[in-house]
Amino acid sequence: MADALSEGDILEAVARHTGRPGRGAQLRRAGADITRLPLLDLRIVRCVETRATRPESRPGTYDTSRRPEYEGELRDHPVDPPKDPTVSRTVEFVLRGSVRTVPCGCDDGRQPCSRCRAKGRLRCDIGPVCPACEGVEPCTWCDGTGERRKDRSPSGSPREKPAAGRTACEKCRKPRTACPECRGWGAKRCPKCDDTGYRVCPVCSGERSTEHGPCDGTGLVTLWTAGSVGQAPEQASLKLPEPAPPLRFRQQAGRTGAWERVTLSSAGDPLPDGLDPAHLKAVESALTQCRGEVARRVDIGWLQSAAVTVPDDPDHVFYVFPGREGPEVLAIWSRRRSLRVAAVVAGVVLLVLLVVALV
Ligand SMILES: [Zn+2]
Ligand SMILES: [Zn+2]
Ligand SMILES: [Zn+2]
Ligand SMILES: [Zn+2]
Ligand SMILES: [Zn+2]
Repeated sequence: MADALSEGDILEAVARHTGRPGRGAQLRRAGADITRLPLLDLRIVRCVETRATRPESRPGTYDTSRRPEYEGELRDHPVDPPKDPTVSRTVEFVLRGSVRTVPCGCDDGRQPCSRCRAKGRLRCDIGPVCPACEGVEPCTWCDGTGERRKDRSPSGSPREKPAAGRTACEKCRKPRTACPECRGWGAKRCPKCDDTGYRVCPVCSGERSTEHGPCDGTGLVTLWTAGSVGQAPEQASLKLPEPAPPLRFRQQAGRTGAWERVTLSSAGDPLPDGLDPAHLKAVESALTQCRGEVARRVDIGWLQSAAVTVPDDPDHVFYVFPGREGPEVLAIWSRRRSLRVAAVVAGVVLLVLLVVALV
């Protein structure tokens, strides 16, 4: 453990930083003020466990023998926490004696086809109007009805005589009377139903029923009581002091500070001795064992540092902390200096605005 910086070490570091090596004691006499500023960086990863049981099912005859079993209450079943608490995992158990394969309740693995409502066929449109005769005169003898229409005279008009380019009518069987495109139908045949108005149901292929999904068509389901144990990491952190000192100081101390570090791995581990007494309460409360916590890893780092003000340099605060090669100093503008600079900047901006307004 690195020794905490003494007041003499701190003042001497500031004196050296300001070009007055060996004059640390002089700074003290001149009224330098030292505020201890211990830094703490704590990170905790808890492995938190949740347990739940639920009814489980699989289609058909299902083999659960490769799953681990538990007996009685799931909460009493021992499950090792993961070696690494940052790992997330779920273990699925089967309650011993709960597995049974029973009839599904469907019709032997089949269910009525919902598409055709178990009719095996679907209504279908008949073909669209024939593009050649537009359905007006598909056959000069039967008009596409298959029978001689009553209002036609038996002798027939010249138009009704067999004409060139006409073909045999499929409805009345007369030769050379029908439109060559639709052969007396007045419409193109529907390719799906051949103009019967019905087609085979594509879902059940006309069988009126389909395989029942929940049992994969077996008519059986396997049921059991499942118990699942989930282990998931939960992370938290604590950074002190609060409010945080200036960012530049924290960054510099984070990079080059000689932090002392300890890793704890269980809730009962004692806290390290070097922690600042002012931090103990917050650390203890951050490390309280959580509900469901089965494992943890705590990384604690701390750095004894100080903020020093010197009466003859009111524009700076000197942050002193132990580095790898001895005390390090970082001078940061004091609040007084920052406010003055801000005031000067505001004044300049105001002046520029005035000049711009006058020009
Ligand atoms: Zn036609
Ligand atoms: Zn005809
Ligand atoms: Zn059709
Ligand atoms: Zn169907
Ligand atoms: Zn079924």
